Amino acid sequence: RLYNQVQDLKGNIRVYCRVRPFLTGQASRFSTVDHIDEGNITIITPSKYGKEGRKSFSFNKVFGPLATQEEVFADTQPLIRSVLDGYNVCIFAYGQTGSGKTYTMTGPSELTEESLGVNYRALSDLFLLSDQRKEVIHYDISVQMLEIYNEQVRDLLATDEIRNSSQNGINVPEASLVTVSSPSDVLNLMNIGLRNRAVSATAMNDRSSRSHSCLTVHVQGRELTSGTVIRGSMHLVDLAGSERVDKSEVTGDRLKEAQHINRSLSALGDVIASLAQKNSHVPYRNSKLTQLLQDSLGGQAKTLMVATVELGAARVNKDSSEAKELKEQI
Ligand code: ADP
Ligand code: MG
Repeated sequence: RLYNQVQDLKGNIRVYCRVRPFLTGQASRFSTVDHIDEGNITIITPSKYGKEGRKSFSFNKVFGPLATQEEVFADTQPLIRSVLDGYNVCIFAYGQTGSGKTYTMTGPSELTEESLGVNYRALSDLFLLSDQRKEVIHYDISVQMLEIYNEQVRDLLATDEIRNSSQNGINVPEASLVTVSSPSDVLNLMNIGLRNRAVSATAMNDRSSRSHSCLTVHVQGRELTSGTVIRGSMHLVDLAGSERVDKSEVTGDRLKEAQHINRSLSALGDVIASLAQKNSHVPYRNSKLTQLLQDSLGGQAKTLMVATVELGAARVNKDSSEAKELKEQI
């Protein structure tokens, strides 16, 4: 449903699909990719979820299983420049648990320079570009990191380790907003935030797949001659797993979590649908997620959704550029 709604919203919204490679020893649990070309992908729906059938989806771009972090980021880069020009930008990863959302946004658990995800690359780029403009504009960059779990917002940077922090968050006034001045500051903060997230994960049994996490960057530029102030922001969101939970199989806490996730993902869909229909009332206030993202969805804001999917068995058009790569992969 979210896919259809996003497709309706042309212009300032782009939708990519990224196919996760097949990991040895792991059976594909969900949909299976049948066919990939540059802008289209065909999925076989497992019979468990209804009558087996093929369904094609088109995207602005489809990244195959061998696409590198650098390649995925290269197509994201124009959005980063917009933030410094005063736009609000939102990049979110959407997909089932295990499909590669965290890999795309943050990277794998053992990070190397090549495997760094969109978040770190986006921040590094902001510093690089702001430095190139420093004769003309002075930029201040600050970040906040939040987790939304069962409609409760948790500040992942609320710790004594952090200096340069103010309680002045974006759309969440009490959240810590931390000034950063280099990519290594950002990497430190991301590690602190991820560690804070992991602490609750052991107690709650991989809660990360059932919560949304959002790294928000706030940019304020001041033109040195005129004193004009430019403000831009960027939300980098790793959404909770989109798998449908069978309500007959879960009870108690799991059921509550599933209901919260379904509700907030539908609230996101409703916001996008009403933006697409140009309704005067956009229901931003129906979930914590849409409240947090409201200034970066709609209006002049630029949105990128990366839908992540797992690669199962693939049958590929032999003329497609992806064919050779996939053959090696499988
Ligand atoms: P999600 O956040 O959607 O639950 P993860 O990002 O944690 O999924 O990915 C699941 C596993 O697959 C992890 O071990 C991750 O490192 C690996 N993985 C995901 N995407 C890729 C990719 N494009 N290339 C290599 N490994 C990947
Ligand atoms: Mg994840």
